[in-house]
Amino acid sequence: MKNNNSLSNLGEFGLIDRISSHVEAGKGVVTGIGDDAAVTSLTAGMQLLTSTDMLLEDVHFRRKWHTPHLLGRKSLAVSVSDIAAMGAIPRWALLCLGIPSGLPLDFLDGFTEGFLAMAAEHGVALIGGDTCYSRSGLVISVTIMAEQYPDLIVRRSGARPGDEIWVTGALGDAALALELLERNNLAGNPLLEARLLDPTPRTAVGRSLAESGLVTAMIDVSDGLLADYGHIAELSGVGGILYPERLPTSAPFREYAAGQPVFPHQLALSGGEDYELAFTAPPENREKINSTVKKHGIEATPVGIVTNSSEVAVLLSDGSRHIPRKPGYNHFT
Ligand code: ADP
Ligand code: MG
Repeated sequence: MKNNNSLSNLGEFGLIDRISSHVEAGKGVVTGIGDDAAVTSLTAGMQLLTSTDMLLEDVHFRRKWHTPHLLGRKSLAVSVSDIAAMGAIPRWALLCLGIPSGLPLDFLDGFTEGFLAMAAEHGVALIGGDTCYSRSGLVISVTIMAEQYPDLIVRRSGARPGDEIWVTGALGDAALALELLERNNLAGNPLLEARLLDPTPRTAVGRSLAESGLVTAMIDVSDGLLADYGHIAELSGVGGILYPERLPTSAPFREYAAGQPVFPHQLALSGGEDYELAFTAPPENREKINSTVKKHGIEATPVGIVTNSSEVAVLLSDGSRHIPRKPGYNHFT
């Protein structure tokens, strides 16, 4: 995209044209950007899933940390992750922008490029949105739509006592990267940095697990495993035991966390923004789950057990129970 213009020269409609000129045709899109409403058609027999997320400057992101490209990617990634957690197929997105005065056009170009790259990677078509002026900071709101056959959709409410609790990938990287960024100390760790600034939604794995029928409940880990498993427990009417020593962590995480004065598993247990999947499944499905997940080049690890109690406990191997400082990120506490 060439930048001969400022945003004020371009105006609202110029900007919308600038975004839409890079949008490719998508599956099921009958009418995309440009009309009063978009028109889409679902695959026969499937249901529509819809989810929306807001990202506010200085609440969810800082412009000095995120390049426009990575911010564009992440704005869609967090929504795609919610769809992955339902085992559904992401299809369409709406993008609403509140733009502060003086935001460089280059920033919007980079943002759009990142957003559309993430969209292409996950088969999502941008079909509309809204664009307005913001008096304080950049406001990004993304609505995603997805589809799946009704019987295959995985909810938070299906966990049963005796099921194992699993997580994909590794936990704690994003929270550690955030701590290090806040202390100006992340230099030279691109792996950790990418886990915070450029998360990978587990779309293909989530869908495979759903279609395999092996899992009973699923959620994406956006607020920390303890908090997010807590949502499964609450909606399923169950409790759980999490074994922090079994939580999968990455090599860079272990290297950095070794010198931390805090409870070593605190970040892995309660740190947000990893966008891994946590799910529950009967123990007899272990082997099949491992092979299903491996097909996508990642690992999944059993980290706990669903119980019929009313609480979620954290149990160390010496038999002691650990009460974490805070279960996870919450905007109002
Ligand atoms: P209306 O006034 O009817 O709300 P708009 O002028 O806001 O329509 O939008 C015109 C078209 O551009 C619509 O199809 C809308 O979905 C699309 N659009 C607006 N803003 C964006 C955006 N940030 N990204 C993608 N599409 C957008
Ligand atoms: Mg509008």
